[in-house]
Amino acid sequence: MESTGIFDLKRRNRSNVYSYIYSNKHCAKQEIAAALNLSLPTVSQNLKDLFESNFIINGGLYESTGGRKAAILQCKADAKVAVGVEILKDYSYVTLCDLYGNALKSDSLRLTYKNDETYFSAVGYWIKAFIKEVDYASDQILGIAIATQGIVSNDLQTVIYGRILNNQGVNTQHFSKYIGQPCVLLHDSKAAAFAESFYHPQLKDTCYIFLNRNLGSATIMNHEVFSGNHARGQILEHMSLFPGGRQCYCGKTGCTECYCSANSLMETAGEDLDSFFMNLRVGSDTRISIWNEYLQFLSLAIYNVLMVQDLDIIIGGKIRPFMNEEDLKKLLRFVRARSDFEIPDSAIILEQCLDHPAARGAALHYIKQFLAEF
Ligand SMILES: [Zn+2]
Repeated sequence: MESTGIFDLKRRNRSNVYSYIYSNKHCAKQEIAAALNLSLPTVSQNLKDLFESNFIINGGLYESTGGRKAAILQCKADAKVAVGVEILKDYSYVTLCDLYGNALKSDSLRLTYKNDETYFSAVGYWIKAFIKEVDYASDQILGIAIATQGIVSNDLQTVIYGRILNNQGVNTQHFSKYIGQPCVLLHDSKAAAFAESFYHPQLKDTCYIFLNRNLGSATIMNHEVFSGNHARGQILEHMSLFPGGRQCYCGKTGCTECYCSANSLMETAGEDLDSFFMNLRVGSDTRISIWNEYLQFLSLAIYNVLMVQDLDIIIGGKIRPFMNEEDLKKLLRFVRARSDFEIPDSAIILEQCLDHPAARGAALHYIKQFLAEF
């Protein structure tokens, strides 16, 4: 019988070999042996095992550098996949991601959110049909994660605060009984921030501010979503910006939501974002003044975050695609005017604009777990 020590060592070797191939996208056997300081027979044994388990594939041969051509080793990107869903007020989106976070297939559903069985069954059956159609074996699907507007308990089972969709108390059971398998719930802002951090691993400690119809935000620390003791870590939207000011949906007044969300901008301007930014860019004086005021509000929110957390700020969400480098410079100038500390240019950046980041981030929740536990 093998001792636990040998078993652990074998497992660690297998995990290290897989991680090396995964991180490098492709590599040769000799390279793995050298990088991990393992003998060639040990690497060969692990590769054999990984081939047999269908986790890696042969990607052809490298160009010869003199001797025999080395085989190209690659991870089988869809050896495991995960399903991510994003639920919004009038619309839901589902995506299937592979181990590198590539969206393999997606679908959307136009349906207005309601807290009733008709809605839960429609969404649940739609997810179930999507999974059936993508045609992956059940042991290949790592899980189903649903991102929703609302704060979710740390066990990812229940919405504990959800005034936008009025979904407080909704739990995984509401969906899983129609999907026919378990799922988890995620706060959509946290899922979206996590997706950004997955695709941009060079970003370490960051605060994401999503300028969506309703403001969202999340902190990533050491590549993990920061949740806080009560799952309420980083709820920038209800940070008090102007006490006694505009009425917020949370019942209080003067929240950041009322000044920095896309809804607040559209309400002030009396038009949608397309129309607002079109008029702004052709030099409408009223729009320029509304936009400057909006950026001032945002600069105050960002300044407060910087003073508390000293994180890099990443601006995303619905307003982001309309923003240009000039807007960013102006925002930086406004933040600097408030601060006694030096604020570098890199302190605020614009998001890369992923397609449906919350749904992606939801799927990546399982991908990351799988990679960490391999
Ligand atoms: Zn509020």
